[in-house]
Parts: sequence; structure tokens; C-alpha cells
Amino acid sequence: MDYYISITNRCNLHCEYCYEKKLNTEMGMLDDKTVDAVIKFVNSLPNTGTIYYFGGEPLLGKEIIKKITLETNANSYIITTNGTLLDEDYIKWCSEHGVKFNVSHDGADLSARGINPKVLNEKIRILQKYQREILLQLVYTEKTLPKLPDNIRYFRDLGITIASATMEESTCPSDPDAFGDMLLKAWREASSVPGISILEMVNKITAISDQKPHQCDLCRKKMYINWDGKIYPCLQFQNRSEFQCGDVFNGINTAPIKEKYPEYSSYPSDCDDCEIRKYCDNSCACRKMATSGTLRAVSDASCLEQQILTLVALEKIEEYAKKRHSAS
Ligand code: SF4
Ligand code: SF4
Repeated sequence: MDYYISITNRCNLHCEYCYEKKLNTEMGMLDDKTVDAVIKFVNSLPNTGTIYYFGGEPLLGKEIIKKITLETNANSYIITTNGTLLDEDYIKWCSEHGVKFNVSHDGADLSARGINPKVLNEKIRILQKYQREILLQLVYTEKTLPKLPDNIRYFRDLGITIASATMEESTCPSDPDAFGDMLLKAWREASSVPGISILEMVNKITAISDQKPHQCDLCRKKMYINWDGKIYPCLQFQNRSEFQCGDVFNGINTAPIKEKYPEYSSYPSDCDDCEIRKYCDNSCACRKMATSGTLRAVSDASCLEQQILTLVALEKIEEYAKKRHSAS
């Protein structure tokens, strides 16, 4: 089981596209009593995979992260952070205790996040002294999509070997055909940048090659623990009491959600005849909720993104096969 623990939904930044602001939930931070209950709850269940520390900005609660890390026994620990509050002592402690970092970074232009790239890059440089595998996470909008390949090169030039690139959830292009062309061009070029991989493309290629479609499982493989101790299947549901499936004080119960929302893990009904359905990630309840506000649909932009990712992944698979064939 993987746990996404929201240390706080407060943040020191004000990104234009912040998901937390859109969720409009009550602001808060794990208190001592809830931290103890989180630790007890996690330790009461078998097979802890990865504990992801989430926010808001989780580094607003550095000592809480240390306590949970020291008192649980996960296979790995990852902090998803905007990186601005990193300091060398903390990085050192984390590195000595097996805690890794996913850092949000949008590339050369960080104006949507209100930070100076030089400041963030200096933090990343310090992090690189201690850790080799740092994932940089980029969110692209319709406006910044054409810059995706340049931004992936920019990460590579910082010495990064793996990045994540996801579309801003509320993307709603006025001209879907032109947007589709732009997506295809950007993803083809970005995934051909040498020396760096993009996680979403790696995952898509793996899913196609292994014939293992995305499976959304209600709190069976992962769960989201909010700063107030309430448990939800995913971050996107934290403002919806009807999706709460327990809390760290009383345990978990997913049966009412399963009964009330049989469509939870299903593809939208419009997808019945889609040829690439088995490669599409849009059965994900979190994705459906984030992009359409319901469990029965995804946004057109998200559908388009999955089509393009699949197409480019298939092209890559063919390219690798040709290379293997000509080498043998
Ligand atoms: S860093 Fe993350 S949590 Fe903070 S404002 Fe930006 S998107 Fe929101
Ligand atoms: S690509 Fe679009 S139509 Fe096809 S399964 Fe995914 S969301 Fe449905």
C-alpha cells in the first residue's frame, strides 16, 4: 500500500494553476495527535510501499516528515515539493534516511509560480550533491505546451535524467484540432530529447509493451490521508465528504463508495468503441474528477492527451524494434 500524506494544504507559493486553490478546502496542518494516529494507522496495515509527503507545501512541516519517516517502515519515502524551502541540512538528513524528492519545476519560465529559476536551480544543485535520482515535475498549459521540448532540454542541461510532464487539469482548448496538432508536435519532440526520459512516456510504453492497462483501485493500492486525518481514495476527493472512506482514528471502509459509485473505476461511457481504450489512463477516478468534475466523463483535452501519448509511444516502440532489427 502506498500512502499520500498531506502534511498541510498551505503553501508558501501562489501558482496560477494550483490544484489546492481550486479544491477550495479548509486550510490546515497535521497536528501532534493526528501525526501519532497517522503513524499508528500506517503501522497497523501490512506491506507499506511508498509514503509520499504531499501538500500544499509539505516542507512547511519538516519535523513532521522526520517523525513519520523515523516511526514507520515504508519501502521508500518521497517528498513532492516546490523546492523553495529546501536547505542543505535537511537534504542531508533526508538522504541519510532514504527520503527522496520530486520537485515541481516548469522550466526556464517560472513566472506562473512567482519564483526565480536561478533560486530554484541552486536548490536543485545542492540536492544533486546528495541524490542522483531527482524527478522534476512540470505542468504544461495550452500556452506553455509549445515550450515543452525546450523545457525538457532545460532539465537535461541541469543534469536531470527523468522528468514528469502533465497537462494542467482544467485545460479546455478553444480549437481542439489545432491543440491536438500542437500536442503531437510537442510530445514527439520532447520524447526524443537525448539524455532524459519523460515518466508519462516511459509508463505508456511499458503499459503497451506489457499489455497491462491502468487499473484504478479504490484504496487497495494507495490512499490519500488528509492533514485532518480523513482518508480519501485520492487527492482530488478531499473536498467531497461523500468520498471519504474512513479516517486514521477509526480505520477504513470503502464499501459505501463502491456501492454508491459503481462507475468509480470504469471508463467514461463515451469510450466504449475507442480502439486504444486498453492503453488509456482515463478510467482513473481522480483524473475523471479533476478534469470533468464527475466520475462519468473526462475532459476532451485529457482524452486528446491520452491519444497523443499512445500514438507517440507506439511510434517509439516501432523505432526501438527497427533499431534492434538493424543491429542484429
Ligand atoms: S507549489 Fe503546489 S501547492 Fe504550492 S501553490 Fe504551487 S501548485 Fe499549489
Ligand atoms: S483515449 Fe479518449 S475515448 Fe479513448 S478510452 Fe481514453 S478517454 Fe476514452
